[in-house]
Amino acid sequence: MATLTIERQGCRSCSMCKDICPTEVFDLDDQQIAVAARPEDCIGCTSCEAICPSRCLTVSDIMRQRPFYRIEENVRLVSRFLRRTPMSSELTDSDWEEALRDVTTRLRGIAASIVETMGRGQRVVGRKAGQLTAERTPEAYEAATVESILQAMQAKFNGCYKFAFSVEPPDEAVTIRFERCPLTLLQAEERPDSGGEVLCSLLKEYWAGLISASTGRTFAVEQASSQCPCTVVLRARE
Ligand code: SF4
Ligand code: SF4
Repeated sequence: MATLTIERQGCRSCSMCKDICPTEVFDLDDQQIAVAARPEDCIGCTSCEAICPSRCLTVSDIMRQRPFYRIEENVRLVSRFLRRTPMSSELTDSDWEEALRDVTTRLRGIAASIVETMGRGQRVVGRKAGQLTAERTPEAYEAATVESILQAMQAKFNGCYKFAFSVEPPDEAVTIRFERCPLTLLQAEERPDSGGEVLCSLLKEYWAGLISASTGRTFAVEQASSQCPCTVVLRARE
């Protein structure tokens, strides 16, 4: 069984571990400090450790290997929590409304804090995030050409981002047209004030960073529209 250690003095009561844990291991105690109330339910995904902003939470006695779902023991643990009927079928209109309001508020807050703390540096952050993704999940992007990398990304992000792309001439200029992303969904729900412009620009830099790190070449954002659904053109720089 995984061992969960929380340094109480470091905990800032943000509840992020509690929110992210897929098996609801954590509670906040009466002092609003995180406690691992149901450690036997831990599946060792390490999401809590990764998200804890205080770095006061550690997960040990687990096998760390990527991809997580290739380890049979992990699959067995996860299967205990799989639902037979999708939760979405049980949601009411007011549940959706509350979820949309919550997501909009959080995204707006994230966008405002990005602008406040990073200013123009936000583009570098987006790019760096893309590079780190490529470096940490090489198995997902170990393709030879830009086209095959984008095809892998289409398959990987199909549930959240739907996009079309063209590469012309080969490996030089990439045009990506997002047909569906979480931000376009919010726009469709008439929630334009969700920090979309900031997050959208961050996302485009993210893709430039990811493709650059995967190909070993430098791709920069050459053109980008901020209208939903948006288009971005990335061009290789020698
Ligand atoms: S490792 Fe994963 S399953 Fe275990 S407590 Fe942390 S978030 Fe929950
Ligand atoms: S994520 Fe870290 S700081 Fe936040 S409540 Fe959990 S243990 Fe405390």
